[in-house]
Amino acid sequence: MDTKFIFVTGGVLSSLGKGICAASLGRLLKSRGYSVTIQKFDPYINIDPGTMNPIQHGEVFVTEDGGETDLDLGHYERFIDEELSKYNNFTSGKIYKAVIDNERQGLYLGSTVQVIPHITDQIKASIKKTLEKRKVDIVITEIGGTVGDIESLPFLEAIRQIKKDVGRNNVLYLHVTYVPYLKTTEELKTKPTQHSVKELRSIGIQPDIIICRSEIALDDHLKAKIGLFCDIEKEATINAPDARHIYEVPLMLQKEKLDTIVLEKLGLAQRRSNLSQWKQMVNRIHHLQGKVTIGMVGKYTSLKDAYLSIVEALSHSGYYYKKKVEIIWINSEQLNSKVLNQVDGILVPGGFGLRGIDGKINAITFARENKVPYLGICLGMQCAVTEFARNKLGLSDANSTEFDSGTAHPVIDLMVDQKGLSAKGGTMRLGKYPCRLHPGSLAYQAYGMDLIFERHRHRYELNNQYRDDLAEAGMIISGINPDQDLVEIVELRDHPWFVAVQFHPEFKSRPDRPHPLFRDFIGAALKYAKNK
Ligand code: GLN
Repeated sequence: MDTKFIFVTGGVLSSLGKGICAASLGRLLKSRGYSVTIQKFDPYINIDPGTMNPIQHGEVFVTEDGGETDLDLGHYERFIDEELSKYNNFTSGKIYKAVIDNERQGLYLGSTVQVIPHITDQIKASIKKTLEKRKVDIVITEIGGTVGDIESLPFLEAIRQIKKDVGRNNVLYLHVTYVPYLKTTEELKTKPTQHSVKELRSIGIQPDIIICRSEIALDDHLKAKIGLFCDIEKEATINAPDARHIYEVPLMLQKEKLDTIVLEKLGLAQRRSNLSQWKQMVNRIHHLQGKVTIGMVGKYTSLKDAYLSIVEALSHSGYYYKKKVEIIWINSEQLNSKVLNQVDGILVPGGFGLRGIDGKINAITFARENKVPYLGICLGMQCAVTEFARNKLGLSDANSTEFDSGTAHPVIDLMVDQKGLSAKGGTMRLGKYPCRLHPGSLAYQAYGMDLIFERHRHRYELNNQYRDDLAEAGMIISGINPDQDLVEIVELRDHPWFVAVQFHPEFKSRPDRPHPLFRDFIGAALKYAKNK
């Protein structure tokens, strides 16, 4: 069968949950037996979000192949349960850079390089690139930003052209828009949607389906009105009122027959849908009983999106135990033991830079001494090792080179010293690496296998020079990268559950299949809460 292309645009406002809609549609189509991938175009000029401030942009989601991507890719992976690649996220910066590099190499043979056709061709080529990586029945492409933004114009022009390249029957345009509720007159207003569709049509795109995000559902009369003004069939105006939970959205959209309409419009067979497992999961989410409290000690506590995949992974483990996971956000610069006494588990997530390090290390001392379950992720592992070296090995000046480059005892050292790699830009260990687990360790118990693969995003590594001393003092080295002999996981001998990992397990957690380390961390926290 021909590959089908679905393009998702956004109207009226940003933060409408366009990514969740795209991901939900992906889930619906996959559960109909079609292979699906989802891709995102971001109109900003940065080459990737790798260097962007997480407070502004949210977390950087890392793919298996080491792409530093937009956090929507995390939603996509969690909803469609497929591993995506760096070719699933393109920014304007990446597109322009490719074109400029080509121009410098003389590949355009003297022609004037322009937005149309050169930039738009490059955008179209990047969709093909995604398909080359994985041949699928349906590609869903989300265009970041809102229709009407100057920045997204080349992307909209490119997706307009595609209908000519691959045939109108193989393309579907889906517009996610906002229908505000006016309290004073107690009515939903469709005018902004009409304007946004007008804008889209002025650049040659007639949407086939409109998803209406709103506080309350639109009635048939309003759907018909949108249909009339925007030239859409009434059934193709889909309600998406605020959901109780993001994982409920695929079910809500299915009730509105979104998948049926999409398949019909693309000329695809209406295969039977199998969403029973997903429904069971949503049912669990709606029936959580009791809670477990996790203290998250980080720097970006003001924006939860900065730790989105970790928050998700914790919640997924909560669904497993049918418990709500309550997160207490602890700013590492304002740490106190009163708040640490309230929690059933402590997590220090990944992060960069020196700020707030002492607070993180103090929180780890608290977890170690009071036997509070601890999960350290990346920087959280580096702090755990530093804490242990300072307080158990007596290396009072033990540090990571990142914390203080002049220290006599860099227990966490740069890869440059470990493996001779350069420490300068673009040299982070990124993406999937193997890790061999020590039998009998907590990590081994969690995974139930001895060779695992996890995603990385860091520069610093444990200094192998301290391995024996750490082990002798009670730190178990329970995971090793077998190819490079790098320490990936540490645990504590005299502690019920203390696991700190160099990688980022959160990216691989799924709502119906929690990541084993998060699952066991929450399990240990529940046990700790019971005995408190
Ligand atoms: N700053 C640390 C490093 O580069 C940790 C990075 C992280 O937590 N992702 O190694």
